[in-house]
Amino acid sequence: MKDLILVLNCGSSSVKFAVLNPYTKKKYLYGIVERLFLSETYITWKHLGMQYKKIIGLNITHEYALNFILDQVLLEHKDVLKNLIGIGHRVVHGGVKIKKTILINDNVIRCIEDAVSFAPLHNPANLIGIKTVIKKYPRLSKKNVAVFDTSFYQNMPKSSFLYAIPYNFYKEYGIRRYGAHGTSHYYVARKVAVILNKNFNTLNIITCHLGNGASVSAIRNGICVDTSMGLTPLEGLVMGTRSGDIDPSIIFFMHKKLKISIDDIEVILTKKSGLLGLSGISSDFRYFEKNYFLKKEAKRSVDIFCHRLSKYIAAYTTLMNNRLDAVIFTGGIGENVSLIREITLNKLSLLDFKINIELNLAAVNGKSGLITEYDSRPVFVILTDEELAIAEETISIINK
Ligand code: ADP
Repeated sequence: MKDLILVLNCGSSSVKFAVLNPYTKKKYLYGIVERLFLSETYITWKHLGMQYKKIIGLNITHEYALNFILDQVLLEHKDVLKNLIGIGHRVVHGGVKIKKTILINDNVIRCIEDAVSFAPLHNPANLIGIKTVIKKYPRLSKKNVAVFDTSFYQNMPKSSFLYAIPYNFYKEYGIRRYGAHGTSHYYVARKVAVILNKNFNTLNIITCHLGNGASVSAIRNGICVDTSMGLTPLEGLVMGTRSGDIDPSIIFFMHKKLKISIDDIEVILTKKSGLLGLSGISSDFRYFEKNYFLKKEAKRSVDIFCHRLSKYIAAYTTLMNNRLDAVIFTGGIGENVSLIREITLNKLSLLDFKINIELNLAAVNGKSGLITEYDSRPVFVILTDEELAIAEETISIINK
């Protein structure tokens, strides 16, 4: 056991962690703290085949969860701890200045802080992860690497990343589309290149990362040319609690007519909308899958989710230079909910997508592969592994 990288992914309501060797791809330890700030925060982790679960407590913060991971879980596995050579942090937004994976120093921390307004739910959590680890492991303080969700989108053309608002908002304030989830989109797209035995830089692919956050990316000749998330991870698809695309006038209406404050509108659009807002019940897709044919609010929410998703896929075919090599579904929903894939692809039959019902039903619970007929445009379910992708980027920077 050597050359281990600790990967930290501090989300808005969870902290994922993994310790792995990026060369052998072996994961020694991985887990997640879920339900931060809620009634029962718990941690689950796996170490060499053994599964552990503990309740951490009530109303747990990111700092507390991180200290629990570092002090209790990692200290319990001293073999893992002493072989750490670096730490990779998922950071959602690099802002205007940071364009690629980078070794963390004070200046990088300042840039991530500057980008907080572009990812208000995520960058603060990412910063807590970085600062906690640097303090805890002085031996590794110069071996922390930030891997940005936004890096994959740096080569998008202006026609994709500019909003049709006065140009100076872009020039002076950096208001443009930055995208998110780039690490995942890039990872699954390269996996399909391996499956197809083709050079990634020759492939045209549409990737759908569907988790609590959800986004679609259009990749042409290995370069991302458009994506559904925007200045912040709020734009685009219907998500767990985020609205995705809306008419901006809704905000004026809420504010001027309904007298809702701007801060409260932000909370409504980021934490109370999406599947949760539409159903009034849940943001967890297991609920929607179970109740699609039983409860009208579940059907309504899923239908809107699939309507928006199929619209994006269809729109992105226009960027593919008349050749689409693959569509990919990934993320917790993309990897597990065959219903979503079936409804969405059936809407796209005009574009020659023909789902294979058995293959689609089989591609759940960790099974991946092709889910379409032999004469269809190929659609794959691919398991994302953001932790591995981050560890690989981290080691490449540490080795430089
Ligand atoms: P994130 O990383 O953005 O927090 P994930 O990729 O873990 O999100 O996806 C979370 C979503 O996936 C949730 O809506 C969850 O209900 C759904 N999900 C995960 N596993 C399953 C499953 N086996 N069946 C149905 N939905 C699932």
